[in-house]
Amino acid sequence: MAPRDYIVNGAKIWTTGAHNADKIFCLVRTSNEGKRQEGISFLLFDMNLPGITVEPILMFSGDHELNQVFFDDVRVPKVNRIGDENQGWTVAKYLLEFERGGIAYTPPVKAGLRRLVDISRSAAGGNGKTLADDADFRRQLAALEIGVMANEFTEKRVMSALSQGQNPGSASSMFKLRGSELLQGMLELTMNAIGGHAAVYQPEAFIPGNNVDPIAPAHGVVATSKYFNQRAATIYAGSSEIQRTIIAKHVLGL
Ligand SMILES: Cc1cc2nc3c(=O)[nH]c(=O)nc-3n(C[C@H](O)[C@H](O)[C@H](O)COP(=O)(O)OP(=O)(O)OC[C@H]3O[C@@H](n4cnc5c(N)ncnc54)[C@H](O)[C@@H]3O)c2cc1C
Repeated sequence: MAPRDYIVNGAKIWTTGAHNADKIFCLVRTSNEGKRQEGISFLLFDMNLPGITVEPILMFSGDHELNQVFFDDVRVPKVNRIGDENQGWTVAKYLLEFERGGIAYTPPVKAGLRRLVDISRSAAGGNGKTLADDADFRRQLAALEIGVMANEFTEKRVMSALSQGQNPGSASSMFKLRGSELLQGMLELTMNAIGGHAAVYQPEAFIPGNNVDPIAPAHGVVATSKYFNQRAATIYAGSSEIQRTIIAKHVLGL
């Protein structure tokens, strides 16, 4: 009789939210034959199975979002396999479209740019003027705003397709690539605008519900943490290089 369970051993690093999750999906190697992508199966199972350990990975930004999950002889029933055995990469590619295509980058970047305009009206820009009067700052701000507007059209096209039950398709790689770059650009310009106030050290101000008065402009308290956190935006959900390859192959047909 064919075995009914898989015995999973190994580790899954960079698992966002594993410390809060009650289920996990894993791509596990079930065969060494054929191309590397062919011997992989897709399992979806409970986090409370015996043999699963979650170790936190603390980020440079001070956040705890990431973890490494270890699997020691974890017995996963075959019924928990999604798709056919050794066809897990096909399932994963389908899901990845939705991981990239299900996030809209434009709203947080737009909100960040609005905040940046406010900051620039009070930040010193040299010669007794504010940063808002600085031609170079205005040029960088305008470039980001134009980029956001262009990206928003692609995002809305994909969201509209999703709302009609269609798939995001390769266009999701375009807005993941541009959206993550714009997000980083906005946070970088914010750091430049805030200057020395971006390095405020006031950990108690991070505590939800705290009522301490910020020791510098309030936006400075979280600026550095956000900046460092989003350095990962061009890596997670597939790095920028991988998105460019997808666009080259599947959008431009190169
Ligand atoms: C904050 C964060 C959260 C994450 N959350 C999750 C999660 O919840 N679940 C999960 O499964 N994973 C998660 N990841 C993992 C993430 O998907 C991978 O880190 C990412 O896809 C890059 O893969 P890698 O780390 O193996 O790098 P590698 O593939 O080793 O890449 C290293 C470098 O080589 C480049 N490179 C690799 N292959 C090519 C190629 N063919 N052509 C050109 N350049 C190439 C990459 O662009 C990169 O610069 C997370 C990562 C981060 C940073």
